[in-house]
Amino acid sequence: MSAVRDIVVATGNPHKVEEIRAILGPMGIVLRGLDEVGGPFAEPEETGRTFEANARIKAVAYAKATGRVVLADDSGLEVDALGGEPGVDSAVWAGAEGARAERDARNNAKLRERMARVPADRRAARFVCCMCLADADGHVLATTRGTFEGRIADVPRGDHGFGYDPWLWLDDAGCSSAELAPEAKNLRSHRGHAARAMAEAIRRLG
Ligand code: IMP
Repeated sequence: MSAVRDIVVATGNPHKVEEIRAILGPMGIVLRGLDEVGGPFAEPEETGRTFEANARIKAVAYAKATGRVVLADDSGLEVDALGGEPGVDSAVWAGAEGARAERDARNNAKLRERMARVPADRRAARFVCCMCLADADGHVLATTRGTFEGRIADVPRGDHGFGYDPWLWLDDAGCSSAELAPEAKNLRSHRGHAARAMAEAIRRLG
């Protein structure tokens, strides 16, 4: 296997590409969006019930479709008081219709409602991210996982980031995930941890 130096990131979410590029870019790896390598490519159905399974489905499908090394991630929020919901359904928890911003707003309203009467000591939650790297033939080269622990805030705060960021309260930092500057979020986020583990896996691939 020759050194991995050129990777297609299989996501339509520009926030994610930026977060991943900030970590793998300095290793001398060129990261491209799917839009830079032709297409359009058929979106695979995310039928997995775990983050790992869905990351693998996406990496393998887009590697085969593009004939390139592909990095895919699957991520979401797990809330203990909700039995791990929204989990793999995070992006579409309150319905799949509408643009990303509308879905985020609906998801956040649903979270507010479901957590309204949950006491402070039962609000533990975390973001989880699984990444999968597949070679140009669709063979899995590496999978990694990262978590970002916090608890669901009483009121949402901050306007950095995306999705559920305003709701994940970080006791030690005294702020929400959406109040962290992008570099600070990268240092401790689920995606940051998974991406750094992927950087290490790529180094080992040679
Ligand atoms: P995916 O794009 O299928 O991985 O879905 C991820 C969903 O989980 C997003 O649409 C968000 O709702 C949520 N999510 C994942 N990572 C983050 C994050 O860093 N901040 C806020 N929400 C996130």
